[in-house]
Amino acid sequence: MSEYFKNIATGATTIATGMGITLKHFFNAVRRKGDAGIDDVDYFRQVDGLVTLQYPREAVPTPSHGRYRLHNQIDDCIGCGQCVRACPVSCIEMETIKVMPEDLAACGKTSGGQQKKFWVPVFDIDTAKCMTCGICTTVCPTECLRHTPVADFSEFDRQNFVYHFGNLTRHEAEAKRRKAEEAALKAQAEKLRKAAEAKAAAEAGAAPEAPNT
Ligand code: SF4
Ligand code: SF4
Repeated sequence: MSEYFKNIATGATTIATGMGITLKHFFNAVRRKGDAGIDDVDYFRQVDGLVTLQYPREAVPTPSHGRYRLHNQIDDCIGCGQCVRACPVSCIEMETIKVMPEDLAACGKTSGGQQKKFWVPVFDIDTAKCMTCGICTTVCPTECLRHTPVADFSEFDRQNFVYHFGNLTRHEAEAKRRKAEEAALKAQAEKLRKAAEAKAAAEAGAAPEAPNT
């Protein structure tokens, strides 16, 4: 008989303990977890509190040093292409145009004082392919290519994942490309002219002297 009442007492104690734990979580959940912000070192140590967010109206804040969507501060980009070569998934597309000597001042310098020698009409990053590995930011000599804390950028259209950072419009790029091509052709023609002149001079020097009469 005593065993019977002992089992009832054990059952009641177990239910009370379980309900106590449930009620503790229930009342703790009334409080919002993480109002201190994700930058708080204790954020991930918090075990109590409501963790379900009303997405998309709410989102977990990202740390200010987060390495998410890329941004190119194009005014500091020298068009060296190191990021393009380093990217393991080829998600950066870049085109450059050599700056003519008379345009160097207009092209300007980086914030670090380095003269820019290339226009960068196309600098596109396909963020749908980017895996935010950070290799491109590591090799960038001017540190213009950086991760940002922007982690949430859903799109309906796949094309909107391609971010454009070029520093020329299409028309400006066409004009500069034409100018660069004309200059290259002119330089090539000048080189050929000089080569022809040198050859003619060499042939004249090697010609036998006319016999005396
Ligand atoms: S973060 Fe990685 S995957 Fe993304 S563009 Fe840079 S190198 Fe490529
Ligand atoms: S590595 Fe940096 S400077 Fe060079 S092309 Fe890429 S973003 Fe521009």
